[in-house]
Amino acid sequence: MFQSHFPDLPTFVTHLECSYTGERQNADQLASVSAAGKPLLVRYDLKALAGAVSKDDVAARPGGFWRYREFLPVRHAENILSLGEVTTPLIPCPNIAENLLVKDEGILPTGSFKARGLALAVSMAKELGVTRMAIPTNGNAGAAMTAYASRAGIVSYVFCPSDTPDINMRETQLLGAKVVPVDGLINDCGKLVAEDKNGIGWFNAATLREPYRIEGKKTMGLELAEQLGWELPDVIFYPTGGGTGLIGMWKAFAELAAMGWIGDQRPNMVAVQATGCAPIVKAWQDGADHAELWPDAHTIAAGIRVPVAIGDFLILNAVRDSGGYALAAPDDEISAAQAEVAAKDGMLMGPEGATTYAALRHAVADGRVGKFDQVVLFNCGPSLKYPMPPVDRALDRHQPIDYAAIAAA
Ligand SMILES: *Cc1c(COP(=O)(O)O)cnc(C)c1O
Repeated sequence: MFQSHFPDLPTFVTHLECSYTGERQNADQLASVSAAGKPLLVRYDLKALAGAVSKDDVAARPGGFWRYREFLPVRHAENILSLGEVTTPLIPCPNIAENLLVKDEGILPTGSFKARGLALAVSMAKELGVTRMAIPTNGNAGAAMTAYASRAGIVSYVFCPSDTPDINMRETQLLGAKVVPVDGLINDCGKLVAEDKNGIGWFNAATLREPYRIEGKKTMGLELAEQLGWELPDVIFYPTGGGTGLIGMWKAFAELAAMGWIGDQRPNMVAVQATGCAPIVKAWQDGADHAELWPDAHTIAAGIRVPVAIGDFLILNAVRDSGGYALAAPDDEISAAQAEVAAKDGMLMGPEGATTYAALRHAVADGRVGKFDQVVLFNCGPSLKYPMPPVDRALDRHQPIDYAAIAAA
């Protein structure tokens, strides 16, 4: 069945490259980080790629990120894992602002854009013979990994902070993972996964500790460019945790430009965090190359509660090279932003997505975003998996009913 959907096509991977030192290593073998301990990036023969596929070829294919498969590392079609991915919509919110589009990633399998990265990581793990995988997660990555891993017959171990939304943990368990809630934050979970003290021998799928998740996230940039007619917006606001989405999109734009599919214009990349966990914003303000561990991280936007990111320098480089900036918003503004977009434009964002709108309001107020700028906000996750304000009104139908009071409330 896969064969008919995904015929074996050539891939164009040449090697893996250390994102810090440029040192090369072979592709087609299991890899974690480089010798320097930094993320590895997949490199392609972009000239050959440009010769092998056209925009029209891509346009003729079904929606979803596998339509960009020549841009991706999976060699054999039988290893492509698919759960019905779709092209995610760019939703205008005209009552909030003109020239504003929200890329809504919440309709991907398991409800978040983590499906992009983990479909690639798990497909490559399958291709390279992995039978067990482990991941530290704030919820969405664990669910996405488990869904694709279960499909592939790979066993999942998912370590998450014990205050991860309950629905994420239950979903992930039902999808087949061994879920381990930990009394700490995602970086504490990351240590437990990396140490694997009893030598269970799982493959570590943590953010940027294997080279393929970022290739999946890259498809957000490919898809955005294609949706906008191979043009890019003026500004992208991205809810930044580990930063793979931002780094991945920046990589996508570079690859498309090298292939001649887009021109020189680039969006300002804006890394958005919550005030209670803003290591990238602080590093950007300090002009630092790396971010320091953020103490006592807390925010309602669970998906971006990431106190330390191995790809910090890649996020900061992309933000700076793009002429962008980094902004934080506090939780009360995040909640207000979520309520405003929902009630005015009918678009329910998750708290991480709402953080980008809270940040946009600051950028508009201080003039960094102008009236005519085309802005794209990323809503990366599932709004319905988070606790929402309760409905605190009830009607006793056996008493006289005061319709005027209902209308006024
Ligand atoms: C993981 C996650 C993010 C942050 O993504 P990174 O690319 O790792 O920074 C943002 N929003 C949601 C809903 C997430 O699950």
